[in-house]
Order: sequence, then structure tokens, then C-alpha cells
Amino acid sequence: MAGLYIHIPFCVKRCAYCDFFSNTDLSRREEVVAALSEELKLRSSYLRGAPVETIYFGGGTPSLLVAEDFRLIFETIQNSFLRRKFQEITLEANPDDLSAGFLKMLQAFPFNRISIGIQSLQDDELIMLNRRHTAAEAIAAVEQCRACGLDNISIDLMYGLPGQTIEKWEDTLQRAIQLHVPHISAYHLTYEQGTRLWQQKEKGEVIPVTEETSLAMFQMLIDRLEAAGYEHYEISNFALPGRASRHNSSYWRGIPYLGVGPSAHSFEIESRQWNAASLSQWLEGIKKGKGAFEREELDEEIRYNELIMTSLRTCWGVSLDAIEREFGREYCSYCLDNASEHLKQGTLSLQGERLRLTREGIFISDTILSDLLFVR
Ligand code: SF4
Repeated sequence: MAGLYIHIPFCVKRCAYCDFFSNTDLSRREEVVAALSEELKLRSSYLRGAPVETIYFGGGTPSLLVAEDFRLIFETIQNSFLRRKFQEITLEANPDDLSAGFLKMLQAFPFNRISIGIQSLQDDELIMLNRRHTAAEAIAAVEQCRACGLDNISIDLMYGLPGQTIEKWEDTLQRAIQLHVPHISAYHLTYEQGTRLWQQKEKGEVIPVTEETSLAMFQMLIDRLEAAGYEHYEISNFALPGRASRHNSSYWRGIPYLGVGPSAHSFEIESRQWNAASLSQWLEGIKKGKGAFEREELDEEIRYNELIMTSLRTCWGVSLDAIEREFGREYCSYCLDNASEHLKQGTLSLQGERLRLTREGIFISDTILSDLLFVR
């Protein structure tokens, strides 16, 4: 089994917090889509014949594509990759792109999941984040998707925003819960270097929330969503029973994936690679028939560290049997030795052969993860 990630590197405008690779010059859209199709063909052997079960159109803003773009990409995938029935095909979308006409157009394609970048349900926060939509438009987008028969919906939210109060976060959460979507991702704001918010923080124009507020918001997020029936299956992800994202879960479970498009990452157990985060370099690489990427071989220590970092973030935890099977008894003992203090403190639990973060452990997950990693 394997996944495909397709990076659409265009946005209408840049959000104040975002450092993902994208470009606001949409005039090269057709050229880029043709190059994405070429890259899919060029790298079709990367997954070594593993059947593709999940596809994720991310970005950037994939909801800026038109029917001809999707047609070309899906035709290329059908012709280039071994597949069973695709289990999950997700489109990331901005709320204001989800018009009835756009959603009707999507029905010609096999999308069965939509991930909507709502971020906040407070208009003043959306303006501060430089988002294109209002809270009312975000809610209307969810309703519009349902009206068009697309009810496998995920929404993204952000917290820890400058000026955000606990009361406003609670209001956003309550309104999000009322949408009854099967999946919610919620991320704490990080000030990424070079973004508008980072510059504003450097100049003292915005003040980050305190550590205490951050923790209270995270606690509220977990409490409210769990009370509403969502399972907290990964640090930033919540789903109604049986509705966890298959594509994202495969990242955390070490399943190979191929990423195409500028800045996209790929992984195939023994190595990982990442495409140039530059439209011109990436296009040039495709034209030459070689691609433009850097590659890292993953030795045993790196693979052990990756297993810890990805699986311990999930509710399934890390399997000690899998560590022993893949890396040997030494690594298993190393992991348990380093986990022992956290097991005593109750921030990790050991049930059967599964090591998991406890509720208390989730709040200090970065510390626990770094304690379990292999350091040369
Ligand atoms: S958050 Fe999404 S829409 Fe905003 S700039 Fe980043 S990729 Fe584009």
C-alpha cells in the first residue's frame, strides 16, 4: 500500500502565518499542471509497484484548479500507478472556492473527502491571518459540500493566535462542533521565519499568547472535542469513530508515499527525498527528465527515530514488537530504558507491547519524544 501527494503551488494571496511553498502568480497554472503530470509519469516506479490507496491534493490551494487540470492529473494517475480501489482521495480547499458550480464540477472526479481550511470562526482573527473568507462563508462552505453530497469533510482550525482569548477559542470550538463534520485538525500557531506574523512579532506589533494560555487552549480543545464524541487519534487530529484520515495516518505509520510538485516530500522506507522549493528549479528538473530534488538515505538510527517521532504522536502508540523486529533487541531495550522515568511519572503507559502517551504526556510530548530518540 502507498500514498500519493500532489502539491498545487498556487494561492490567491499569502496568509500571514504560512510558510508553505506557493506562488501568487496564477498565470503558470497550466504549465505547472502539465509538469505535475510529467513528474507522475517520470516517478511512477518510485513506489516499486505498491498499490496506491490514498491520494491527497494539498498546497497551496488545490481548489484553484479547473476541470481540465483534474482530468489530466487523474488520467495520468490511472495510467501510471498500480491501484486497487482508491480508499481516500482528498482535496484541500479554501472555503470561498467551494461554490455550487465548483462542487458540481468536482463530481466528475473520484474525490471522496474534502479538507477545508477554515482556521477560525471569528472574523477579526480571519482578517488578522489575512484569510480570504469570513466565518459565515466558512460555515456556508460546509453546508454547500453536504448539499452536493460530499459529507466526508475535515476542517482545519488554529489556536494560540495573538489576541485570541480563551473565550473566543471556546466560541470557535463550539461553532465548529455544531458543524458535525467527521474530522477536525487543530494546530497551535507557530511563528515561521519570514512570514508576516513573524515580522510583526519581531517588531513587537503582535504579542504571542503565554505558555499558560497555550496549554489552557490545548486542554479545552481536547476536552470539548472528546465530549462531542471525537477521538483524539493524533496530537493535532480528531475524528468521529472510524473517520480518521487514512492518508495522514499512513504518514504516521511509515507507509511509503510519493510527493510531486515543488517542495513535495517522498518516502520509501530506506530513503526520503524532497523536491526543490522553487518553481523554476522544479520545472527545469522536469523538463530535463530528471526532477530536481535532494535525497537522504535513512540508516537504522534515523529510521528508529522516525518510528518514535511518528507513531508516538498517535493514539496507537509505538509497538515494541515492531522495534524489536525491525531494529533488534538493543533498540527495544534502549527505548524502554529511556521511557522508564516517564512510565513512573505516568506520562507514558505500556499496555501489552504498546507504548503510548498518556493524557498528561500529550502536554509534554516534545520532551518525551526527544528523550526516546537515539542520539549519536
Ligand atoms: S495557508 Fe493555505 S491558502 Fe494560505 S498561503 Fe498557506 S497554502 Fe496558501
